[in-house]
Amino acid sequence: MTVVTRFAPSPTGFLHLGGARTALFNWLYARHTGGKYLLRVEDTDRKRSTDDAIEAIFDSLRWLGLDWDDEPLFQHSHADRHAEVARELLASGRAYHCYCSPEELRAMREAARSEGRPVRYDGTWRDRDASEAPDGIAPVIRLKAPQEGETTIPDHVQGDVTIANAQLDDMILLRSDGSPTYMLAVVVDDHDMGVTHVIRGDDHLTNAARQAQLFQAMDWTVPEFAHIPLIHGPDGAKLSKRHGAVGAEAYRDMGFLPEAMQNYLLRLGWGHGDDEIISQEQAIAWFDLDGIGKSPARFDLDKLTSLNLHYLKQADDARLASLVAEHLKGILERDLEAPDIALLELAMPSMKERAKTLIELAENAAFYFRPRPLSFDPKATKLMSPETVALLGELETGLADLTLWDAPGLEAFVRQFAESHELGLGKVAQPLRAAVTGGTVSPPIFDVLAVFGRDESLERIRETIAAFS
Ligand code: GLU
Repeated sequence: MTVVTRFAPSPTGFLHLGGARTALFNWLYARHTGGKYLLRVEDTDRKRSTDDAIEAIFDSLRWLGLDWDDEPLFQHSHADRHAEVARELLASGRAYHCYCSPEELRAMREAARSEGRPVRYDGTWRDRDASEAPDGIAPVIRLKAPQEGETTIPDHVQGDVTIANAQLDDMILLRSDGSPTYMLAVVVDDHDMGVTHVIRGDDHLTNAARQAQLFQAMDWTVPEFAHIPLIHGPDGAKLSKRHGAVGAEAYRDMGFLPEAMQNYLLRLGWGHGDDEIISQEQAIAWFDLDGIGKSPARFDLDKLTSLNLHYLKQADDARLASLVAEHLKGILERDLEAPDIALLELAMPSMKERAKTLIELAENAAFYFRPRPLSFDPKATKLMSPETVALLGELETGLADLTLWDAPGLEAFVRQFAESHELGLGKVAQPLRAAVTGGTVSPPIFDVLAVFGRDESLERIRETIAAFS
């Protein structure tokens, strides 16, 4: 059997972290088994399903690298097929027309409530003949669900989940206006798409029993289920906006790398021994449904951040440069040109070792692009005593004579210079930093000089000397 999984988001305007994890698990399981991973947009709520809302979800999925097989299926466009299945069930006697008016249904609900019974449809029209149909009422189609026995879902995460059939009433499949219900649409689509494994949040667990009944009514194979516990916030409550950002795209905007997010979401609910850092390749090799945890995982921003730190260190410099450039746009209020990006790439090795996010990288790299003449922050200004300015003059002369301009050579030279003046390294390096960057905090100064190159560095030092002379 070829495994077919699917991710079936309702377009709510963004991809919730829980949805992102569901997508990841479906994707990994398909990739692990050499199967297919399909995308279905559950866009039957026409008001909410705007193109923007759908595009936002696709965008986040692409960012996470969760590429789907085949074209996405838009549930709404299959409404005719859903209705056709409801009518097939009607024809085979496994569904029936129900002519209850809204008033009758309300009375049914109220009676159940006042008697302390659960609210269920009472089967009024289950065995009545169509000849009894009242005039002027467009009927709904209901499933003739089994009333005895029980329905068991063998769930890969939750184990056997059994519900007494008496607890499940005859659900509506087709509304009186001919539109399919959510339950009908999901089952028909899962069948038509050949879905073999339904991996989704455990908020859908009770739906699974009803859906299984519907699969059985059509004599279709019931897919295997894996219902994953929802993600909780640090306080143990279901993850919501009050815990912070819940959309995957917000984490992109906060400067997280997709591979860090993927690794984090994977560990949030799935485990492989004590492994914390799991590459995508390893994840594909190892992922199985048995490794999914039974209890809800808690979202922990510190853990995500420490994974990001790890992946930033590993990331390719050219790739980082173009990602950082995106974030720098906002800081500098301009686009970056090819030479800027080339400079960023040179700057990355010394910067990426310590940065937690792309934003931090962008902020720390911004000084490379500030216009000259430099403006000096108060601490840098305070350093520039006449003695220091004179010292910078001497230093500039020595630096100008260097034949090789690289970080180790520059460091060796400045150390020697400091020693010959009986000064600690900091007493020379700090004014040098201020002279070149206008501030007292920067990546290692010798790396900065190497990134700027000889001409730019020397001109900066000269300009600073002139400014403070
Ligand atoms: N559209 C549903 C949701 O976003 C998922 C339905 C399913 O996976 O069966 O929660």
